[in-house]
Amino acid sequence: MDLYDMHEYWRNKVAVVTGGARGQGAAITRQLLQAGAHVHVVDCLPVAHEDWNDLKTDSVHLDGELTIHEMDVRDDAAWNALQQHLSRSGTVVMGVVNNAGITGARSTVTKTDLIEWNHVLDINLTGAFLGIKYLAPLMRAGGAIVSISSTVGMTGYHSAAYSTSKWALRGLTKSAAIELASAGIRVNCICPGVVDTHMIRSNDKLFEALKGITPIGKMAHPDQIADVMFFLLGPQSSYITGADLAVDGGVTSGGIFWPIGKAVGAIQ
Ligand code: NAD
Repeated sequence: MDLYDMHEYWRNKVAVVTGGARGQGAAITRQLLQAGAHVHVVDCLPVAHEDWNDLKTDSVHLDGELTIHEMDVRDDAAWNALQQHLSRSGTVVMGVVNNAGITGARSTVTKTDLIEWNHVLDINLTGAFLGIKYLAPLMRAGGAIVSISSTVGMTGYHSAAYSTSKWALRGLTKSAAIELASAGIRVNCICPGVVDTHMIRSNDKLFEALKGITPIGKMAHPDQIADVMFFLLGPQSSYITGADLAVDGGVTSGGIFWPIGKAVGAIQ
């Protein structure tokens, strides 16, 4: 399939993106809109919040249609209502991106209280579970689901609830992939490394510490993660399911040995 067909594929097709008001969710929403899709964005940020402004402005110039649902991904009843709403209009969903997520307080196991633990797992993990549970029945063969895990779902990380939620998303991906394979629906997840969004810029110390950990030399732009989401959502990845793909500029490949190589002068 050439590039033209790949983009034509999305014309008038429907996708649902959670956490799409800003950051990586907004980046994949833009790409889908550019390709002519009708994108339903689910985000808990109030519709009037300024973080929506860039996407709202850009969407006017893009081919597709944007529908905003002010909704919390933890809300089972709201997911049910969204499913009913889409089902009543006979909507077939061809793409789902479970992207909404928070870091929480980034505390260690012994410093994390139960409320904080449940809060992070409810949004990052249960939110994705509900997205798959309610949207998969509206999907058809050729449809694809992509969830956004993290490289901290592949390694140990001090932020216990966040890291655990991202490890669990990889498990959820594999469970859903084997269930939905016979229906022709693929389910994958992406493990981004450091991406320049509000999530890491909201903490100055973390932002500084993260600057130097990527072998490729810089953090990702949200579009660089969206490019991979677009690939996994579309027909060019038709034989990939149940995968968890690190998109991290070499962070997980390098592990602890990349900084050691630098420290001893073997790597510049
Ligand atoms: P971001 O904070 O810019 O975007 C997150 C979006 O999720 C926001 O629009 C927010 O309003 C929405 N959201 C949060 N809680 C929600 C809820 N309960 N219901 C509905 N929407 C909710 O951050 P981002 O970097 O774009 O994060 C996107 C995803 O990527 C997250 O799952 C995050 O964990 C993951 N991730 C981020 C990085 C990074 O370095 N930025 C790295 C790896 C993984």
